[in-house]
Amino acid sequence: MQPIAGLHVAALIDPERFDITLYHEDWHGPFDPANCKNYDLVFLTGLQPDFDRMRQLSFHFRRSGATVVAGGSVCTLFPEYARQFFDAVCSGGVDSVSDVIRDYLAGALRPIYRSPVAQISQYTIDYSLLRKSGINPLAHLAESSRGCSFKCSFCVIPSEVGGHARYGLERFAASIENALETSSVFSLRRWYPMVMLLDNNFSDNRAHMLAVCQYLKEHPRIRGWGALVTQNVLQDRELIEQFAAAKCVGLFVGIESFEADFLRRYNKTQNLGRRSNVVDDIAFAESHGIAIGYGQLFDPRHQTAADMQRAMDAIADNPFVPMPTYLSTVAPLAGTQLFWEDLEAGRLAANLRFRDLDGETVCYSRLAEPAEPIVTFLERVFRRPWMVVGRGRILRKTLHRLRHSGSFNPMRWYIIASASFHCFSWANESPGASRTYLAGTDTLDPQYAEHPADISPEDRARYFEPTFLTDGEGRPTDWLEPYAEEHRRAASAKARRRNPVAVVSDSVTA
Ligand code: SF4
Repeated sequence: MQPIAGLHVAALIDPERFDITLYHEDWHGPFDPANCKNYDLVFLTGLQPDFDRMRQLSFHFRRSGATVVAGGSVCTLFPEYARQFFDAVCSGGVDSVSDVIRDYLAGALRPIYRSPVAQISQYTIDYSLLRKSGINPLAHLAESSRGCSFKCSFCVIPSEVGGHARYGLERFAASIENALETSSVFSLRRWYPMVMLLDNNFSDNRAHMLAVCQYLKEHPRIRGWGALVTQNVLQDRELIEQFAAAKCVGLFVGIESFEADFLRRYNKTQNLGRRSNVVDDIAFAESHGIAIGYGQLFDPRHQTAADMQRAMDAIADNPFVPMPTYLSTVAPLAGTQLFWEDLEAGRLAANLRFRDLDGETVCYSRLAEPAEPIVTFLERVFRRPWMVVGRGRILRKTLHRLRHSGSFNPMRWYIIASASFHCFSWANESPGASRTYLAGTDTLDPQYAEHPADISPEDRARYFEPTFLTDGEGRPTDWLEPYAEEHRRAASAKARRRNPVAVVSDSVTA
């Protein structure tokens, strides 16, 4: 959902009453506060490391007279805290946007709107907004469901969504038709339409997944599609053959790590019931023309820099295993099971900030070895990945995968090759400022200091100071403590339900 969250928000706003524009900082670059004028109503959303950026933008837009409504992960999980920075916050799915609009027009905006993420209302997306807003992705981005039934402990989906819900097939088809009809005549999306399904877990509901596959297979214009799936899907060879026959060209698979200990530690049970070997499963899918992408996670609590390098070497040396599409450290995202456990055990770094939860920063106080070698490795992997795995090794591996795919379709070649080199292109775009890669001390973005000279000390603290999750001792900060207490109470109630206390009575009954 993240890359198209703006489209979903816009779908719930009446275009007859509002002139809607989308702005995506990953696509357009940082928003220039000088352009804040002329907006009446602004919706902001983002991931947890973006929360401070949302606060900064809220300041700029509110100062220009706009009403600011915020959603996303932090607003969903901590709405009472988040509301102080915005005129209203939406906790949950985008579906409360229509209520926000109604109340805004009536001059009766409420501070918090709640909508269960798994509860989906009826709306059709208008993809023409992408063209109007200058956003031009290679593929049509779509979603046929939300959420996931698994409970990986590092993932926010179980806390934010807590289940899986699907869109009706008719509505999904209407969105795809709209995407096809409104794409620019100068775009690849018009001449070689491919669909990237951004469902959190496309494979969660098998019947729905197969119905969507069938629709895409039979669509006369769609040339290929990809989706995000769990690793157990790869084990199902018949399903993979079905996908290939239905024009599937790529799957982003929740592999995260090739080490069983890692998977067990984070309750990634769906990756553990292997009847076959995951490398064989990848090779099988790629031999059917389905490029496999995945993320590789590093866990500095349990892995030394040498362990991390060994993991990368093992991937690089196996000709059948693609390079990871992205690399990340394990981030204790606030509100996840992992986060609460680490917070209670005092394992989180002192002065941990939302901004540190970017998947590149070490967020823990107890590491597998002193921080220095780990930081040196992370600096290489995120800024100079060719020092971790040389370009020549990746090129040889990519050529092997191209041969193995048995396809002569240049578009499939592009998908296979671009996934392998994605980490390199990402690293090249990294900012040049020096970093510590350690939570609490890592360099902040320049936007934290981009406020007017006449800002009051209160507003500077409120909108431009980073949000801390832990104090100097690694304990929850004041704003977080009530949530931590609530979580403790819920956890002990759950434990009591699991281990009910036996009541022994000496009375005799029949
Ligand atoms: S399978 Fe993926 S989406 Fe589902 S809980 Fe695990 S990491 Fe999150």
